[in-house]
This record gives sequence, C-alpha cells and structure tokens, in this order.
Amino acid sequence: MSLKAPTIGIVSLGCPKALVDSERIITRLRSEGYQLSGSYEGADLVVVNTCGFLDSAKAESLDAIGEAIAENGKVIVTGCLGKEESLIRDTHSKVLEVTGPHQYEAVVSAVHTHLPQLHDPKLDLVPESGLRLTPRHYAYLKISEGCNNRCSFCIIPSIRGDLVSRPANAVLKEAESLVKAGVKEIMVISQDTSAYGVDVKYAESKWKDRMVRAKFYDLCKELGELGAWVRLHYVYPYPHVDDVIGLMAEGKILPYLDIPFQHASPRLLKAMKRPANQDKMLERIASWRKICPDLTIRSSFIVGFPGESEDDFETLLDFIEEAGIDRAGCFKYENVEGAPSRDLADHVDQDDIDERYDRFMEVQTELAHARGQSMVGREIDVICDGWDDDAEAYACRSKADAPEIDGVVFVESEREIAEGEIFSVRVEAAEGHELRASR
Ligand code: SF4
Repeated sequence: MSLKAPTIGIVSLGCPKALVDSERIITRLRSEGYQLSGSYEGADLVVVNTCGFLDSAKAESLDAIGEAIAENGKVIVTGCLGKEESLIRDTHSKVLEVTGPHQYEAVVSAVHTHLPQLHDPKLDLVPESGLRLTPRHYAYLKISEGCNNRCSFCIIPSIRGDLVSRPANAVLKEAESLVKAGVKEIMVISQDTSAYGVDVKYAESKWKDRMVRAKFYDLCKELGELGAWVRLHYVYPYPHVDDVIGLMAEGKILPYLDIPFQHASPRLLKAMKRPANQDKMLERIASWRKICPDLTIRSSFIVGFPGESEDDFETLLDFIEEAGIDRAGCFKYENVEGAPSRDLADHVDQDDIDERYDRFMEVQTELAHARGQSMVGREIDVICDGWDDDAEAYACRSKADAPEIDGVVFVESEREIAEGEIFSVRVEAAEGHELRASR
C-alpha cells in the first residue's frame, strides 16, 4: 500500500530573520516526512509566515493570508503579525491557527494537528517516539527551555535565555508516543517546571477532542491519563503547586516532588534571588502531606553561599529535619564565572564550607536511615531497572526513587523480572537509601 506524504506550502514574507524562521520550519517538517509544494494546488496546507513591522507590511501579510485561504483553504499563520491574532481572525475567520514570531514548535505542532504526518515503521529511520539515551522503560520529557528567573548563583538564563514553553499538545503527543513505545515512567523536566506556560499566557492547544492549556496543573492531569508513572522534577513552590497534590493523592501522578529549595534562611534566599515565596513552607509541606501522606520530597541545597552565617546554616539543618525532606542533596557553593553571586560580600571560607557540608551529610544520613527503617514491613510498588550482579538481586525503584539520583530497592525473586515491570514487594530490610525486598 502506498500512502501519499502530506504536503506543505509556505509563503514567506518580511525580513531575512523571518526567512530563516521559514527555513527552520520547513527543515523540521521535511525531516518529519512532509513534502513541500511550490504551488497552492499541490499543497494540503499552507503556512504563511507574516511580517508586522510597518502598516504596509501588515496589509501585505493580510492579503497573502486571504490569497492562501482562497487558493488552498487550509492556512496556518505564524511570524510577527501573529502577535495580533485578533486582527488576523477578524479579517480572515477561516485561519486554522495563529502563532507568533520564533514559535517553531507551535507552528510544527499546529501542522501536526491539522495535517498529521505519516509514520511508516518500515521506512522511517527514527521511531515515532524519537531516539533516546535512556533505557527503554523510562524517559525524560522536556516541557520548556530557558528560565525567567535570575538566581544569583546561576548562569543558565544567560546561556539558554528566557522561558520558552512547548505547546501542551506537542508535549502530550511526545508523551503518548513514548508510552506506546514501551516507556513506563516519564520524568517531567525543565529549568522551572511549575512556571510552564507563563511565557505563552497558558495558551490552549488541541489535544484529542479537547483543548488543553499550557499550564502546570492541566498538563499534569493529562499526563496522568496516559497509564505511565509520571514524576515531576524542578518544581518551585509557587502557590498553584498545591493543586497537583490532589492528583498525587488520586494516584494519577507519582507522589513525588523534586523541589530545589537551595536554602531555608529567608535572608539567604533573598540574596540568592530565588523564585517563589517560601514563607510558611513548613506549614505548606505539612498540608501537602495531609492530603497525600505518601508524598516524597527531594530537594537540593547549597551550603556556603556568600554571607551564610552559622545561624543561617542551622536554619537550613532545622528545615530539612522539620520538613522531613526525604531525599536531600547538597552542593558546596562554587564561584561560577559570570554568576552575579561572585560580587556579593562575605564569601565563606572553604574550610567552613567543607565543614558545613559534612554536617549536612550527617543529618541527611540520619534522616535517610530513619526513613528506610519506617519502610520495613511495608508493601510497596516498584519498577524493575534490571539485574544487579553485585547485589545478586533485581535493582528496582519505588515511587519515591527517581532513576540515577535516589535509592534502590533490591528484590529477590524466583521468577525472572523484565525491565520496566511494575509489581508489589514487601520491604524486609533497609540501609540508608537502599531497601531489600521480596515479592
Ligand atoms: S537556578 Fe534559578 S535561574 Fe537558574 S535555572 Fe534554576 S530557577 Fe532558573
């Protein structure tokens, strides 16, 4: 059976920057198997990349959209005039979708929605779920690039730029393809996961028979319907994070939050320019645990940030104990080139940094030990990562363990266990972050 590849036409208006954008769009679509057509009749859909610099350019863009609708009928508008969506829609109500300048992924995603690509497993070099470096049963799902925050110790925004969120339907499509390809656990990542969609004003996009907002809660809810474990990383404690705890309690997404608190002293958090108000954090964590008692909180902290006093450091130690941070990672402050914190006063001596690190790790180890002991005798679900020769057992992880960074549950079993299999075990012993269990 031969299937005709979907064919795109593109009308590119405006300056050389817009031309480069058009080239990127067609390069991406071509790599996905779309054909290109130089005529309206030969295309199944037309993308009009507009210019909105001057009134005359706007008029030219609106004319071009009108021509494409008259000649072809299926039109997606992108580019600078895309900022004036209501002008476009008032003039041409038949336009299928409007995206703004430099929104390659939103354009490509709109094309996927209105003219789905063909996936032919016999011909395509790349599987529908993409090429991955992780084992077959888990995958990372990036929902945005860049970051709008300016934490004083961090140079990521200067390297990667401001937040650019992917359209919700593009994220969900990728997640669904991963699950179809055998992925059992999805790790949602970004620089600031809970800020998802702020840059695009939580724009809606069509997913299946419904519209889904590019919003943290909405995305988590949809991901929770895919039948895989969904784990959230790099979540800042903005107020709307409270909403996803209910999804965790319902079992839709894993009861796991990776929140990089970095510190607990209000004075230092201010100097770090950390996002989100961490006031009353202990009360909030307690209220989360009331709704979802199995919640695991992973966090990372920096010791020895400029200006950190012994009091600040003790505030931090008290916090990890009182909040019951289940997985606490610790970094020694580093004077990263280009980071604004280099210019702060009162840098801490390296000996003090090393000493605080050791004290942090002691507290962390005690917490891990107590947590491990509290698990003994419990029945928990685990996912298998494969056989471990040294431990002579299957290396598995509970819902509280992200791959690579958290603990391991070693499971002895008479029956062979496949990678990615999820099953129940009874915990028999614990040491630090390692548990021993049998099925
Ligand atoms: S540390 Fe701060 S600035 Fe850096 S990526 Fe994270 S939230 Fe953004």
